[in-house]
Amino acid sequence: MRWNGQTLVAEAPTALPGLARLNNLVRSVQTPEFAGITFHEVLAKSALNHVPGASTVMPFAWTINPYRGCSHACVYCFARPTHSYLEFDEGKDFDQQIVVKVNVGEVLERELAKKSWKHPAVALGTNTDPYQRAEGRYALMPSIIRALAGSGTPFSILTKGSLLRRDLDLISEAAEVVPVSIAMSIAIYDDELQQSIEPGTPSTKARLATVSAVRERGLECQVFLMPVLPLLTDTVEHLDRAFGMAAASGASSVVYSALHLKPGVRQWFFAWLEREHPELVSPYARIYAKGAYAPKEYREWLAARAKPLMRKHGLNRARPAGTTGGPSWSQAAPTRSAPGGFAPVGFAPASVLPSFGPVGDSQPMLF
Ligand code: SF4
Repeated sequence: MRWNGQTLVAEAPTALPGLARLNNLVRSVQTPEFAGITFHEVLAKSALNHVPGASTVMPFAWTINPYRGCSHACVYCFARPTHSYLEFDEGKDFDQQIVVKVNVGEVLERELAKKSWKHPAVALGTNTDPYQRAEGRYALMPSIIRALAGSGTPFSILTKGSLLRRDLDLISEAAEVVPVSIAMSIAIYDDELQQSIEPGTPSTKARLATVSAVRERGLECQVFLMPVLPLLTDTVEHLDRAFGMAAASGASSVVYSALHLKPGVRQWFFAWLEREHPELVSPYARIYAKGAYAPKEYREWLAARAKPLMRKHGLNRARPAGTTGGPSWSQAAPTRSAPGGFAPVGFAPASVLPSFGPVGDSQPMLF
């Protein structure tokens, strides 16, 4: 088996109480190349997850998550609460206790071979990142891509991982036979802020270079400018730089949305704010006083600010992607040179409320 050949430096004690619930745990390991991270290797019973209510809430009905937890460690990650299922916490454990489905490719092949499989599109990267650092060690994605393409199943990949470049030959070959959609998530165009809030991710520059590499293969590559952080990345200067750099990288289109702070993420995000930007704790408390989403007024204000900048950079197809900060895809068309294949289905920007005044460098009155 693939994982048996890999260097095992230390068998980690399975001290976390929730792991006792796993009857498919192979082992827990730590290696020097991944300081502070423990990999919990499991034999998955299934690879395809059905998304309940997909037709109304999410436009994709099936997902694959080869990993649970994500060493990219984005403070704002909305998948954090999903890590509590094994009594892991939503903070450090999400970043450092990574569950690896070591047999995901084999299980997927069996599932796709069933007569009942009707080849709906499958989304990767909707929960945790399939090209997070662990993928460099476990190399699960090639078998997933081969299985999907081989069975005639369209698929999409959303990632922050420049490791995607390793598989570009394979992805290009897959795009010859099935619709394939690629999107890079790049939200922060300020190196210091990016390192602080997404400490485990490749740099913005490396991700933009990955967009260019995908485009050089003749594939579409969308940029997800998500989340836009109120008072941190919503200035005209930052948005201008963001849209400009995304356009220069060759991005096929850009979608953006404001930060979404659901319970579980909220506490972790506010702890970071208190450490790094204590002056923003009160403004954020006001913005997110009524719930997880930035208020409609803020989103409208942001849309009015972003729209002329998009136009300036020739990104007229860019648009808000809804309120969740999550991906939003349609299962429409093929991929290669086909703009709109799995395009986001966000709503059109709304008009600005007069009470929010000018959208130059001023902030909405909400703050
Ligand atoms: S890369 Fe995505 S899944 Fe990973 S921590 Fe960041 S937001 Fe979460």
